[in-house]
Amino acid sequence: MIAVVPIRDGELPAGGAESVAEAGGRVLLVGESPLKALTALKGIATEIQYWDTPGFAPGMWAAALSDELLAEDIVLLPASPDGRDLAPRLAAQLERPLFAGAIEVRAHGVTCIGFQGIVMVEHLLGGASIVTLQPGVRGIDPLDIDLPEPVAMNPSVSPGNAPVPDAEIMEVLPPDVTTMDLAEAPRILGGGNGLESAERFEQLGRIAKALNASVGTTRVITDKSWLPHSRQIGTTGVVVNPELYMAFGISGAVQHTSGLGQPLHTISVNTEPHCPMMDLADLAIVSDANETLTELERLLMLRGSP
Ligand SMILES: Cc1cc2nc3c(=O)[nH]c(=O)nc-3n(C[C@H](O)[C@H](O)[C@H](O)COP(=O)(O)OP(=O)(O)OC[C@H]3O[C@@H](n4cnc5c(N)ncnc54)[C@H](O)[C@@H]3O)c2cc1C
Repeated sequence: MIAVVPIRDGELPAGGAESVAEAGGRVLLVGESPLKALTALKGIATEIQYWDTPGFAPGMWAAALSDELLAEDIVLLPASPDGRDLAPRLAAQLERPLFAGAIEVRAHGVTCIGFQGIVMVEHLLGGASIVTLQPGVRGIDPLDIDLPEPVAMNPSVSPGNAPVPDAEIMEVLPPDVTTMDLAEAPRILGGGNGLESAERFEQLGRIAKALNASVGTTRVITDKSWLPHSRQIGTTGVVVNPELYMAFGISGAVQHTSGLGQPLHTISVNTEPHCPMMDLADLAIVSDANETLTELERLLMLRGSP
């Protein structure tokens, strides 16, 4: 098994290091300035190849890498936005099945979450496959080993291997907090069952936008379809690791908090002072979360924010 990790500006994507750990330490880094990302792989990588190539061109990369990856049984990518772009192109080039959003990868099988996180599906691998790994689900247990010497590669597209055309990149914009991948969001405002209506979640969205934050939620809310599954934090949702997490009316069940990572700052607003989310918070506010949101929005409007 080998991890293929797309790099942007020398940065590993969310789940990049975990994919390397899951692949037993073998990695091919591809993208701009991959050597800058090496320190993040100390204690994890045992064999490093890299292709320093500008921009992001998943179609061309897949065509160029397909010969190099032909001998690999499982090619594993992080299910980060770039990993999710590259993986299906590699699958098409190599004519292999793609198993997307795995939560565990073994030599002969993968476990994926399906049907909006409700079902865990076991797949037996009948042959060589491409797999994407959900960021945050496997964790990393670093070893006391030195970084191996990275080996440069410079593949090219062989004549019989026409690349899938890539989009022409006009401009790279900063992420929009309202739509960005929750796994990469630096600030998250989470709303739970203590919020009384779908309208409260619209209000939470407005406040989050004013604070340059993204909206997250619990499974109770996605089950009610008040927010999509992509906003659900937890074991059967997205694993996040923000700097700031604000929880409004969230009890802090283990299936939720296990997906929270290690936020630098956690604030919880809840009417129940002793629920797990309040115990976990740096700042625990015993209050009606609905009224707190209304007051917060009023203050932000006074400031001229939303
Ligand atoms: C197999 C499995 C997988 C699961 N996966 C996930 C997952 O990925 N993510 C996830 O989140 N959950 C998951 N769950 C569900 C999880 O166990 C909890 O049920 C869920 O997280 C609870 O959501 P909640 O805190 O919004 O709701 P509740 O547990 O109902 O808590 C509501 C909270 O709001 C407070 N409250 C009530 N009224 C107010 C008010 N007016 N103001 C302020 N606070 C108020 C209450 O005191 C309480 O603490 C899973 C469960 C199972 C069985």
